[in-house]
Formats: sequence, structure tokens, C-alpha cells
Amino acid sequence: MELLLLYLTGSLLHQLTCSAPVQDSSTQIHLQTATTGKFWHISDLHLDPTYHITTDPSKVCFSSKGFPVKNPGLFGDFLCDSPYQLILSAFSHMKHVEQQPEFIIWTGDSPPHVPPEELSTDAVISVTSNMTHTIRQFFPQLPVYPALGNHDYWPQDQLPAKTNAVYEAVAKLWAPWLSSEALATLREGGFYSQLIKPGLRVVSLNTNFYYTPNKATENLTDPGGQFKWLQDTLELSKQSLEKVYVIAHVPIGYLPYAKDTTAMREHHNEKLVDIFRSYSSIIQGQFYGHTHRDSIMVLLDQQGKPVNSIFVTPAVTPIKSPGEPFSNNPGVRMYLFDTQDYGLQDLWQYYLNLTEANKKEQPNWSLEYTMTEAFAIKDIQPQSLHELALKFEAPQSKDFQKYFTHFMVSYSDTITCEGVCKMVQVCSVHYLDRDSYSQCMKKRRAGRLN
Ligand SMILES: [Zn+2]
Ligand SMILES: [Zn+2]
Repeated sequence: MELLLLYLTGSLLHQLTCSAPVQDSSTQIHLQTATTGKFWHISDLHLDPTYHITTDPSKVCFSSKGFPVKNPGLFGDFLCDSPYQLILSAFSHMKHVEQQPEFIIWTGDSPPHVPPEELSTDAVISVTSNMTHTIRQFFPQLPVYPALGNHDYWPQDQLPAKTNAVYEAVAKLWAPWLSSEALATLREGGFYSQLIKPGLRVVSLNTNFYYTPNKATENLTDPGGQFKWLQDTLELSKQSLEKVYVIAHVPIGYLPYAKDTTAMREHHNEKLVDIFRSYSSIIQGQFYGHTHRDSIMVLLDQQGKPVNSIFVTPAVTPIKSPGEPFSNNPGVRMYLFDTQDYGLQDLWQYYLNLTEANKKEQPNWSLEYTMTEAFAIKDIQPQSLHELALKFEAPQSKDFQKYFTHFMVSYSDTITCEGVCKMVQVCSVHYLDRDSYSQCMKKRRAGRLN
């Protein structure tokens, strides 16, 4: 309950949103023509309303869980979740990039990482409401397509396969963005689909159903009937000649930083991969969050042909556990797509160098990289990403080192990833199902022994 007392009031929000625009030196590179469109992807805002600068290191933020935060800055700390100022600086940067995109996708996780007793259903809904209103205040004209994260529920991770106070609340909060049909399934199961424009549909999945720590769905083969709904939705899209963007919080596939570990339960992951393979011809992109790191995956069909480009976007929150060797700088990204077939052309990853921003007391959000330029690829379609990922496999691959620096959102350019670290990263890019992943690990292990 204490957290609630610290919410920023409407007037302070107004004051902050009306602050001076952030300069962006990279706007001129946003080439957009009649045949291309753009959209933003934001994720894992994790607002910590308790964050404040104080001389007592144990009292800076609840999200450090008592771990001392010795030198907290105006825009946050790597041991804490996002101060409101950091989130405002991200939106302010997005707002002042020229040529506004057509829509925003927002893949969840608004509340802070704090013990369950510090939150409640009301507190979680309040944070989500605060973030929803902040986004609407910055982007009143833009449609926003959200997906629920494992932290967007209380107790965290336990998102049920039936209606509840949280699904009801978000259906109200997100009503300005979604159709009544979308709101109906959102209210029942936390998922929905909606036509973005003629020929392009967004499918927002509640993959928290399949998240390993979720006890509410543990014994269910098809929690909330979402698999059946997804198949029916994709079938209908196929018949209507639509293309689809899939958005969700918890990603499919294997984690790029933990050996032999899927983010979802393995059998649920297998099922989703099967569905995505069956409908890969209409799925033009998959967009996730949750890991807080920047990574890609390429879905291969049974014959090994690359059929889907999958992106995990980095978090806005910079938090890491005290024991972790690295974290991520705060990031937001924009995609460029072809308006004929909605195929993905490119992405611009923006970031805030948190250490520098705190030092200068200025949030200079800037371009971290443009994908096609950084890796000399022609677009970010499955074939291009596949060829790039093959290059990662070479020993001392410069492309892989660059990819790994991006993975941390340029937190460090000296930390390297070799041996098992690289093996886990590389296998996770191409192999999303149990059989192909374990074969990859076996092959690379054997290669390392030779
Ligand atoms: Zn998160
Ligand atoms: Zn999450």
C-alpha cells in the first residue's frame, strides 16, 4: 500500500510531460515513403514509484530489495526499476522523433519487481492505469496494442485462465484503443486480435498462461482456450488474405542466456511453435519482451527453411539483480514495414546511456543502431536474419560480438560472450523446439571438444 502513496499527481505529470523536447540527432535517417510505414515497440516499463534520491542507500527504491544503492541518479539506477522520470524521458524522446509512426505495440510488465506483500491487485491496476494514461497523454492520436506481462497481475505470474479483476480493469483502460470484439476476449482471458488496417491484424497473446511459475494454469492443456482461439483466428486471417503481427510478453523458444531453458513450459512452447510453423506464411513478425534484453530468433520450418522473424525488445527498466555481471541500458525501438505485404524492412534501436544521463542530469536518448546498417543486411526478413545468424557461428565473429553488445543495450563493450555463453546464444536464435535445440547444443558441444 505504501507504494500507492507515492504516485505522481496529475499536475506533476502535466508539468513533466510539457518539459522541453529532447534533441534527437538521428531523426534525419528515418526514410519513409508511401510504400513503408513505422511503428514503435515498448516493453517492461516496470515503474517503481518509490524511487527517490536520498543519502540512505537502503531507501532509494523498494525494487533493490534492501540492497544498498550508493549513488542513485535522476534517471535511475541499475539496481532499481524505472523512476517515473526515466519513463517520461523515453516517451518524450519518442514523441519528438520526426515522422510519427502509425501505432505502438506495448508488451507488458508495468509494476516493479518487489515482494508480493508490497503490492496488491489494486496497486497493480493503479500502475497499469498510470502507464496507460501517460502513454495516451503523450500519444493521443496513436492506436496502442498492448499485451499483458507476468508482472501485470497480483500475485505476479499467476494470470488465471478465466476472467478476473485485472482483465476487467485493462479492458476498461484500453477501451479507447481496442474494438468491442477485442475487449470481449481481453476481459475473459487477457488476449485479443484486432485489425490494425485493411490486410494487417495484430494478435495479442497472453503467453503468461504458459509461463513456468504460473500455478493457475499448470495442469491445463489449453489454458483459456487460447491455442484453439489462436488457430481459429489465424485460419480466418489466412482465408481473408490478411497478414499478422503476433505480440506477447513471454517469448517462445529458448532463453539466450540460460542453457536448455525455455521461458514457457516446454510442452506449451512445442505447441505454439507448431501453430506458428503452420501459419508462417501469414505471420509477418513476432514481437516479445520479458527477458529485458535485445535478441532475435528465426523460426525454421521442418525442412530448415527460415520462415519467421522474431524479435525480443529490450526493457525500459535498467534493473538487474545484484549478482548479475551486466544489465541493459533503457531502450525503445521502431520498426519499418512494407505497406504492401507488411514484411519488416528495418529497425531502429534507441537507448539511454544511463550512466551518462545521470552524470549530465540530461536524458540524451540516442540511436544505438539500425539493424540493416549494423550488420550489412538488406532487410530484417527471415532469410536475411538467417544468413546473419549463420555468421554468428564463426569463431571470433565480429557480427556476434556486436550482437552481444546490443543484447545488453550497450551496457558494456568489453564484456564478451564465448564458450558456453556463445553456444547458448547461437542455438537459441535458430532452434525453437526441443529436438532441434538439443541437436544444436549436442553438435556445438562436440565441436568444442574436438
Ligand atoms: Zn519485465
Ligand atoms: Zn516479464
